[in-house]
Amino acid sequence: AGRLAGKTAFITAAAQGIGRATAEAFAAEGAKVWATDIAADKLTGFAHPAAIQARRLDVTDDAAVAAVAQEVGAIDILFNCAGWVPAGTLLDTGKADWMRAFDINVHSMYRTIRAFLPGMLAQGHGVIINTASVVSSLKGVPNRAAYGATKAAVIGLTKAVAADYVTKGIRCNALCPGTVETPSLHDRLQAFADPAAARRDFIARQPMGRLGTPEEIAALCVYLASDESAFVTGTVQVIDGGMTI
Ligand code: NAD
Repeated sequence: AGRLAGKTAFITAAAQGIGRATAEAFAAEGAKVWATDIAADKLTGFAHPAAIQARRLDVTDDAAVAAVAQEVGAIDILFNCAGWVPAGTLLDTGKADWMRAFDINVHSMYRTIRAFLPGMLAQGHGVIINTASVVSSLKGVPNRAAYGATKAAVIGLTKAVAADYVTKGIRCNALCPGTVETPSLHDRLQAFADPAAARRDFIARQPMGRLGTPEEIAALCVYLASDESAFVTGTVQVIDGGMTI
């Protein structure tokens, strides 16, 4: 049996990148997976289609989150992966982008945890993984003012949930990747005048001299979702090729 046999997982932003790789990894380990994304048309072509149910979900939509949670019912694993990376200093960041960053990156988790935690408490167990970043309370980098603030908030939210429910069978951990090769990273690089030079700069942030892969991040998520990590809660799980050494 797989490491997640018999478990049901719910994932936001599962169409590409870390969310998609994790949906595949969870399914490969025997979980039943609800793979959701705002881009429903990209929730196709999974390697384990029999184990994966796809649903369109915009994590900024209160009613949609409540409705999908109603349909899904009780789950064992909630992986909050949806995130948005606005570029810019604080002075560059207009109010709309600032608010949107918090809505997608932080308030989304308020919504999904409020929707799924009662079911976890009723069954006496549950695992929540919240995607933060090393760009957060762990490290500041240029031109990521709103992003870094939101991801620091994710760490605070994670620790609060972990503290409140530690005796109720609930574990909640924050995932903090360094720079990972994903479609949105590619888009961010293309926005530079010299994308090749920008890519070299992003690679250089990791002393290992390379980017992480979505599969490497998914492997950590499998561990955090499985009973192997039963003693692990409220932690900040850094997986960054040495970016924060
Ligand atoms: P990505 O950025 O390439 O893809 C993001 C996905 O989110 C897309 O499929 C998109 O359709 C979906 N999405 C966007 N808005 C949404 C919404 N409102 N509701 C639901 N889905 C929505 O994926 P990624 O780079 O793997 O990033 C995933 C998470 O990992 C994010 O939280 C990101 O901040 C975090 N992260 C990424 C890196 C990296 O270098 N890629 C590093 C650290 C943390």
